[in-house]
Amino acid sequence: MVARGAARRYKPRTDNKQAVILMAIERTLSMIKPDATARNLTGKIIAKLEDAGLRVIAQKRVQWSEAQAQKFYEVHEQRPFYNDLVAFMTSGPIVMQVLEGEGAVAKNREIMGATDPQEANAGTIRAEFAENIERNSVHGSDSVENAAVEIALCFEISEIVG
Ligand code: ATP
Ligand code: MG
Repeated sequence: MVARGAARRYKPRTDNKQAVILMAIERTLSMIKPDATARNLTGKIIAKLEDAGLRVIAQKRVQWSEAQAQKFYEVHEQRPFYNDLVAFMTSGPIVMQVLEGEGAVAKNREIMGATDPQEANAGTIRAEFAENIERNSVHGSDSVENAAVEIALCFEISEIVG
Protein backbone atom coordinates (compact mmCIF):
# COMPACT_ATOMS: atom_id res chain seq x y z
CA MET A 1 0.00 0.00 0.00
CA VAL A 2 1.31 3.47 -0.88
CA ALA A 3 1.59 5.89 2.05
CA ARG A 4 -0.55 9.01 1.76
CA GLY A 5 2.47 11.27 1.66
CA ALA A 6 4.02 9.27 -1.20
CA ALA A 7 0.76 9.32 -3.21
CA ARG A 8 0.67 13.09 -2.92
CA ARG A 9 4.29 13.44 -3.93
CA TYR A 10 3.84 11.31 -7.09
CA LYS A 11 0.57 12.89 -8.26
CA PRO A 12 1.29 14.09 -11.84
CA ARG A 13 0.98 17.81 -12.48
CA THR A 14 -1.70 18.92 -14.94
CA ASP A 15 0.84 20.41 -17.37
CA ASN A 16 2.70 17.06 -17.51
CA LYS A 17 -0.57 15.24 -18.25
CA GLN A 18 -1.26 17.56 -21.18
CA ALA A 19 2.25 16.97 -22.52
CA VAL A 20 1.57 13.22 -22.48
CA ILE A 21 -1.69 13.69 -24.42
CA LEU A 22 0.02 15.84 -27.07
CA MET A 23 2.71 13.19 -27.57
CA ALA A 24 0.26 10.27 -28.00
CA ILE A 25 1.45 7.73 -30.55
CA GLU A 26 -1.55 6.35 -32.43
CA ARG A 27 -2.22 3.77 -35.12
CA THR A 28 -4.67 4.20 -37.97
CA LEU A 29 -5.86 2.15 -40.93
CA SER A 30 -5.07 3.54 -44.37
CA MET A 31 -6.13 2.15 -47.74
CA ILE A 32 -5.08 3.05 -51.24
CA LYS A 33 -8.25 2.50 -53.26
CA PRO A 34 -8.67 0.79 -56.68
CA ASP A 35 -8.74 4.08 -58.65
CA ALA A 36 -5.25 4.86 -57.34
CA THR A 37 -3.71 1.38 -57.67
CA ALA A 38 -5.02 1.31 -61.29
CA ARG A 39 -3.14 4.55 -62.03
CA ASN A 40 0.09 3.31 -60.39
CA LEU A 41 -0.05 5.96 -57.65
CA THR A 42 0.87 3.72 -54.68
CA GLY A 43 4.40 5.09 -54.29
CA LYS A 44 3.39 8.74 -54.64
CA ILE A 45 0.70 8.33 -51.97
CA ILE A 46 3.00 6.50 -49.55
CA ALA A 47 5.63 9.23 -50.02
CA LYS A 48 3.12 11.86 -48.86
CA LEU A 49 2.32 9.81 -45.74
CA GLU A 50 5.99 9.23 -44.91
CA ASP A 51 6.97 12.84 -45.63
CA ALA A 52 4.40 13.92 -43.01
CA GLY A 53 6.08 11.69 -40.40
CA LEU A 54 3.78 8.65 -40.47
CA ARG A 55 5.40 5.20 -40.45
CA VAL A 56 4.01 2.27 -42.47
CA ILE A 57 4.22 -0.53 -39.89
CA ALA A 58 2.11 -3.06 -41.86
CA GLN A 59 1.12 -3.24 -45.51
CA LYS A 60 -0.47 -5.62 -48.00
CA ARG A 61 -2.00 -5.51 -51.49
CA VAL A 62 -5.22 -7.49 -51.78
CA GLN A 63 -8.44 -7.63 -53.79
CA TRP A 64 -11.54 -7.66 -51.60
CA SER A 65 -14.49 -10.00 -52.03
CA GLU A 66 -17.95 -8.44 -52.02
CA ALA A 67 -18.49 -9.75 -48.47
CA GLN A 68 -15.28 -8.12 -47.19
CA ALA A 69 -16.17 -4.72 -48.71
CA GLN A 70 -19.75 -4.95 -47.38
CA LYS A 71 -18.47 -5.72 -43.88
CA PHE A 72 -15.86 -2.93 -43.89
CA TYR A 73 -18.35 -0.29 -45.02
CA GLU A 74 -21.42 -1.64 -43.17
CA VAL A 75 -21.70 1.70 -41.32
CA HIS A 76 -22.78 3.16 -44.69
CA GLU A 77 -25.29 0.36 -45.45
CA GLN A 78 -28.28 2.73 -45.52
CA ARG A 79 -26.56 5.40 -47.64
CA PRO A 80 -27.59 5.68 -51.33
CA PHE A 81 -23.98 5.21 -52.50
CA TYR A 82 -23.39 1.93 -50.57
CA ASN A 83 -23.82 -0.56 -53.43
CA ASP A 84 -21.71 1.55 -55.81
CA LEU A 85 -19.05 1.91 -53.13
CA VAL A 86 -18.89 -1.87 -52.60
CA ALA A 87 -18.67 -2.41 -56.39
CA PHE A 88 -15.88 0.17 -56.65
CA MET A 89 -13.88 -1.22 -53.70
CA THR A 90 -13.98 -4.74 -55.18
CA SER A 91 -13.15 -3.61 -58.74
CA GLY A 92 -9.38 -3.89 -58.35
CA PRO A 93 -6.51 -4.20 -55.90
CA ILE A 94 -6.29 -2.11 -52.75
CA VAL A 95 -3.22 -1.49 -50.58
CA MET A 96 -4.02 -1.64 -46.87
CA GLN A 97 -1.66 -0.18 -44.32
CA VAL A 98 -1.34 0.39 -40.61
CA LEU A 99 0.20 3.82 -40.05
CA GLU A 100 1.80 4.85 -36.79
CA GLY A 101 2.81 8.24 -35.47
CA GLU A 102 1.94 11.13 -33.21
CA GLY A 103 -1.76 11.90 -33.63
CA ALA A 104 -1.78 9.49 -36.59
CA VAL A 105 -5.58 9.42 -37.03
CA ALA A 106 -6.02 13.19 -37.45
CA LYS A 107 -2.71 13.60 -39.26
CA ASN A 108 -3.66 11.01 -41.87
CA ARG A 109 -7.09 12.64 -42.38
CA GLU A 110 -5.34 15.97 -42.88
CA ILE A 111 -2.94 14.55 -45.49
CA MET A 112 -5.86 12.79 -47.25
CA GLY A 113 -8.02 15.92 -47.59
CA ALA A 114 -11.83 16.17 -47.71
CA THR A 115 -13.96 13.28 -49.03
CA ASP A 116 -14.93 15.34 -52.08
CA PRO A 117 -11.71 16.28 -53.90
CA GLN A 118 -13.30 19.56 -54.99
CA GLU A 119 -13.33 20.56 -51.31
CA ALA A 120 -9.91 19.14 -50.45
CA ASN A 121 -7.08 21.50 -49.51
CA ALA A 122 -4.30 22.01 -52.03
CA GLY A 123 -1.45 19.53 -51.62
CA THR A 124 -3.61 16.81 -50.06
CA ILE A 125 -3.76 13.32 -51.59
CA ARG A 126 -7.38 13.72 -52.65
CA ALA A 127 -6.83 17.20 -54.14
CA GLU A 128 -3.96 15.86 -56.23
CA PHE A 129 -5.11 12.36 -57.14
CA ALA A 130 -8.83 11.71 -56.53
CA GLU A 131 -11.10 11.38 -59.56
CA ASN A 132 -14.36 12.24 -57.76
CA ILE A 133 -16.18 11.92 -54.41
CA GLU A 134 -16.39 8.11 -54.75
CA ARG A 135 -13.11 7.35 -56.53
CA ASN A 136 -11.16 9.38 -53.99
CA SER A 137 -7.93 7.36 -53.87
CA VAL A 138 -7.58 6.73 -50.12
CA HIS A 139 -9.37 5.70 -46.96
CA GLY A 140 -8.37 6.66 -43.42
CA SER A 141 -9.95 5.76 -40.08
CA ASP A 142 -11.94 8.65 -38.62
CA SER A 143 -11.29 8.03 -34.88
CA VAL A 144 -8.89 6.14 -32.64
CA GLU A 145 -11.73 3.76 -31.71
CA ASN A 146 -12.65 3.02 -35.33
CA ALA A 147 -8.97 2.64 -36.20
CA ALA A 148 -8.64 -0.19 -33.67
CA VAL A 149 -11.74 -1.93 -35.10
CA GLU A 150 -10.62 -1.51 -38.74
CA ILE A 151 -7.04 -2.65 -38.05
CA ALA A 152 -8.34 -5.78 -36.31
CA LEU A 153 -10.65 -6.43 -39.29
CA CYS A 154 -7.88 -6.11 -41.90
CA PHE A 155 -4.68 -7.39 -40.24
CA GLU A 156 -3.55 -10.31 -38.11
CA ILE A 157 -1.42 -9.24 -35.12
CA SER A 158 1.50 -11.14 -36.69
CA GLU A 159 1.31 -8.96 -39.83
CA ILE A 160 1.97 -5.76 -37.87
CA VAL A 161 5.73 -5.82 -37.64
CA GLY A 162 6.63 -2.25 -36.65
P1 ATP B 1 -13.18 6.98 -46.08
O1 ATP B 1 -14.09 6.35 -45.04
O2 ATP B 1 -13.10 6.16 -47.35
O3 ATP B 1 -11.87 7.36 -45.52
P2 ATP B 1 -14.45 9.50 -45.67
O4 ATP B 1 -14.39 9.15 -44.21
O5 ATP B 1 -13.81 10.78 -46.10
O6 ATP B 1 -13.83 8.35 -46.55
P3 ATP B 1 -17.19 8.59 -45.68
O7 ATP B 1 -18.33 9.50 -45.44
O8 ATP B 1 -16.76 7.65 -44.60
O9 ATP B 1 -15.95 9.50 -46.16
O10 ATP B 1 -17.50 7.77 -47.01
C1 ATP B 1 -16.84 6.56 -47.30
C2 ATP B 1 -16.53 6.52 -48.77
O11 ATP B 1 -17.76 6.41 -49.49
C3 ATP B 1 -15.87 7.77 -49.34
O12 ATP B 1 -14.49 7.82 -49.17
C4 ATP B 1 -16.23 7.66 -50.80
O13 ATP B 1 -15.41 6.69 -51.48
C5 ATP B 1 -17.66 7.13 -50.71
N1 ATP B 1 -18.64 8.23 -50.68
C6 ATP B 1 -18.90 9.08 -49.66
N2 ATP B 1 -19.86 9.97 -49.96
C7 ATP B 1 -20.23 9.68 -51.23
C8 ATP B 1 -21.17 10.22 -52.13
N3 ATP B 1 -21.94 11.25 -51.80
N4 ATP B 1 -21.27 9.66 -53.36
C9 ATP B 1 -20.51 8.59 -53.72
N5 ATP B 1 -19.59 8.03 -52.92
C10 ATP B 1 -19.45 8.55 -51.69
MG1 MG C 1 -15.07 7.28 -43.45
